[in-house]
Amino acid sequence: MSKINFGFEKIHQDEKENRVAGVFDSVAKNYDLMNDLMSFGMHRLWKEVLVEIAELNKDSYVLDVASGTCDIPKIVLREFPNNKVYATDINHNMLEVGYKRSIDENFFKNLYFGAASGEKLPFKDNTFDAIFVGFGIRNFTNIKVGLEEMRRCLKDNGNLIILEFSNPQSGIFQNIYDWYSFRILPKIGKLVANDENSYKYLVESIRMHPNQEKLKSMIIDSGYNKCKFFNLLNGVVAIHKAVK
Ligand code: SAM
Repeated sequence: MSKINFGFEKIHQDEKENRVAGVFDSVAKNYDLMNDLMSFGMHRLWKEVLVEIAELNKDSYVLDVASGTCDIPKIVLREFPNNKVYATDINHNMLEVGYKRSIDENFFKNLYFGAASGEKLPFKDNTFDAIFVGFGIRNFTNIKVGLEEMRRCLKDNGNLIILEFSNPQSGIFQNIYDWYSFRILPKIGKLVANDENSYKYLVESIRMHPNQEKLKSMIIDSGYNKCKFFNLLNGVVAIHKAVK
């Protein structure tokens, strides 16, 4: 059987979902705090931009794949309270944090939850006007399978909008980013969450993820009509928007 990447490690394809689930089981409790610390709060701004780029209508059907603790549904429902938003993830612990937050922070109306992989979605063909994936797609076992599955669930002219770590465009920026990612991030993970290994995986998985252009061609090869991307923070993060 073919081997695939789990960070810098090579593992059997059918091990990956469990290994990824293990990482997010471990980080779920501290995930929101760690996100703020690691990105200096910038992930909040990136998610605002993501929702803006989606150009939703007031009555859109929205799916958030790899929803985790539901940051993206929270923004969508703040801006468009009448949208129907489905939050899905393979990880129950992450979704449970999201579910509790949706009650504590009052964005539960029109929000629905379900455990599901982005590579096998429990929805009919042509259901959604927009599908988001925020910092999730690099963890998929097979990104192409996921892209095709999400396309199946989109209506014609529906949008897939992906937010993911990518490749910095300047050499100096790349050096600083490498130093921060490999030296500092796992230490923050150890100090705050007592979990150096999970944060090491997260950094390594970013390095193994296809760059902006490569992801764009994978999206086009998966049957989408158009795809463009926007670099944020010199390409540390990119948003890809594709149309079915
Ligand atoms: N979207 C949220 C955000 O931006 O804060 C959470 C991102 S978190 C880094 C990645 C999430 O992807 C985790 O909750 C993990 O369980 C989920 N995930 C990983 N592989 C997945 C898959 N194949 N299908 C669905 N969710 C997956």
